[in-house]
Amino acid sequence: MSVSDPVANLQALIRCPSVTPAEGGALSTLEAMLLPLGFTVERMVASEPGMPDVENLYARLGTEEPHLMFAGHTDVVPPGEEASWSHPPFAAEIEGDELFGRGAVDMKGGIACFVAAVARHIETHGAPKGSISFLITGDEEGPSVNGTEKLLRWAAEKGERWDACLVGEPTNPDHLGDMIKIGRRGSVSGRVTVSGVQGHAAYPHLADNPVRALLPLASALMDPPFDAGTPEFPASNLEVTSIDVGNPATNVIPARATFAFNIRFNDTWTADTVKAEILRRLDAAAADSPLRPGRKAAIYEIVWAERPSHVFLTRNNGLIASLSGAVEEVTGRVPQLSTTGGTSDARFIKDYCPVAEFGLVGQTMHMVDERVPLADLEVLTQIYGTFLSRWFDNALPS
Ligand SMILES: [Zn+2]
Repeated sequence: MSVSDPVANLQALIRCPSVTPAEGGALSTLEAMLLPLGFTVERMVASEPGMPDVENLYARLGTEEPHLMFAGHTDVVPPGEEASWSHPPFAAEIEGDELFGRGAVDMKGGIACFVAAVARHIETHGAPKGSISFLITGDEEGPSVNGTEKLLRWAAEKGERWDACLVGEPTNPDHLGDMIKIGRRGSVSGRVTVSGVQGHAAYPHLADNPVRALLPLASALMDPPFDAGTPEFPASNLEVTSIDVGNPATNVIPARATFAFNIRFNDTWTADTVKAEILRRLDAAAADSPLRPGRKAAIYEIVWAERPSHVFLTRNNGLIASLSGAVEEVTGRVPQLSTTGGTSDARFIKDYCPVAEFGLVGQTMHMVDERVPLADLEVLTQIYGTFLSRWFDNALPS
């Protein structure tokens, strides 16, 4: 089977119902595409107590440096109500000039195009002057515990080293060529609980209402701003995402009140310094927050969410220039180099090699009727192909 057609590749992948953590046949389908191209394919199963095992795939073509990694995931989010789809989510039907299906843009489409680009590169130029590998997880949309992080460690322990990585996540807001992601903000979440004394709303002097102290604590985190942003990053931003008292009675002063927050921070902070600043603000606000009028110093507890996401910024010119140049050559657009959006698996890859992200237009990701224009699949394949040529021409073995 020829795998130089990204549309056929994507149809085959969409027809595998690989909702996290199910493999759904997606990695086997990808393996069947890569073997005829000469890749050595390995399937790595990751385990964690209390969680389902997840299958992952690592494939390499070539043994020499420089070594380029393409990273992504074959798992998809659930389709939701299948009846709401105009085409069944795992049928990969084409209507007009669009291909419908769960994962079409996030991100089986990116994988389908990169496979096609590699196939065309080999047809035109022969084997690459170096190595290409696919690092593909089945656990990106889920807890991301049995996925990229473990797969990278497993490969590195076998001696794999990479010079650069391209992640094929959808990065473009409106048109193919709008945006390359060269970094991501960090993310820290937590939950703050203030304790008071429960009582009758009509006898407040016998109680301590924790809500009175909770609100200034929440306000202190939201204002003033943490910073003004940098040339590469927007300003760090904290959102209070929930305030919970859990009290159905209007005449009872509650014993406890809780709020949750999430901050997305730029590279003027680390996860540790941003946590220290949050504690400093909470302590200052608590010292100043009466529970009952006249009583000083609220008592609060903070529980951090388990794993912060670390901020990163890629400054590798060979990678960014090859990618940006390829986008401009194929589309005529000069892509914006951006650090916006949520976290991605690039946060794990950055510990191993420089990483940038470029894929399809993300507008329908995770939605009912996720779909991709056929023309975009062809253009992305050409961009990836041009990137391959440019990167291998420019890269020097490290
Ligand atoms: Zn994705």
